[in-house]
Amino acid sequence: FNSIRSFATETTSTQDEEKVIGESKKKTFQAETRKLLDIVTHSLYSEKEVFVRELVSNASDALEKLRHSQLTDGSLDSGKPMEIHISVDEAKNTFTIQDFGIGMTEEEAISNLGTIARSGSKAFLENLEGDSSAASAKDKIIGQFGVGFYSAFMVGSEIKVYTRSVKPGSKGYCWTSDGSGSYEIAEAENVAVGTKIVITLRDECKEYAKEAVIEGIIKKYSNFVAYPVHLNSKKI
Ligand code: ADP
Ligand code: MG
Repeated sequence: FNSIRSFATETTSTQDEEKVIGESKKKTFQAETRKLLDIVTHSLYSEKEVFVRELVSNASDALEKLRHSQLTDGSLDSGKPMEIHISVDEAKNTFTIQDFGIGMTEEEAISNLGTIARSGSKAFLENLEGDSSAASAKDKIIGQFGVGFYSAFMVGSEIKVYTRSVKPGSKGYCWTSDGSGSYEIAEAENVAVGTKIVITLRDECKEYAKEAVIEGIIKKYSNFVAYPVHLNSKKI
């Protein structure tokens, strides 16, 4: 039965949509993260397109981590190609990126997306302490250090992260936040192994739902990506 099911999901494009099935747990971001998110969401930083590079690099890291863990445990398999799939939808005003990499357990999603581990983001906050609080100084620091995953909040009014760890028996989860201090996490069904991030774009960032715009941005960075990137089902 399992093999028939995975055959069906791989060969049709009508895979069932992810759906929250568990009770949602509301959690507050760690204080440092709240501070960072407050700056990121109110930033007038003009190079917002870097969010694409950050999310592609996280997707690529996740595939690399899967490949690496397969060297010691050959049974780990996402059942999907080692690829990064981006899709944009102007009608829905969304930008979506999916990888079939290592994915996250519930605990990993909570600690990796809710607290700042990243060295760049820590350096960002430290520099902020010493620097002037002028918006232009903050923008300069965003550009200099990068804010990783949180850069999605520069363009998104809501971010949904569907993730399922490749570890056998792992359940799927949906992590949601509008970047304003808290997030929710709940069990979800129809979540593929790996991670799928759906960004609902802010009104002033609608351009990132345009295929041509995203294609241009990906082409700027694609030299540095070790895995194939597809945009709206076409290989870039
Ligand atoms: P960094 O990539 O420098 O560690 P980020 O802010 O970009 O920092 O990401 C934070 C963490 O969230 C990552 O270290 C990783 O553990 C987790 N993460 C982000 N995106 C993904 C993804 N696509 N798949 C699996 N884990 C991810
Ligand atoms: Mg990163």
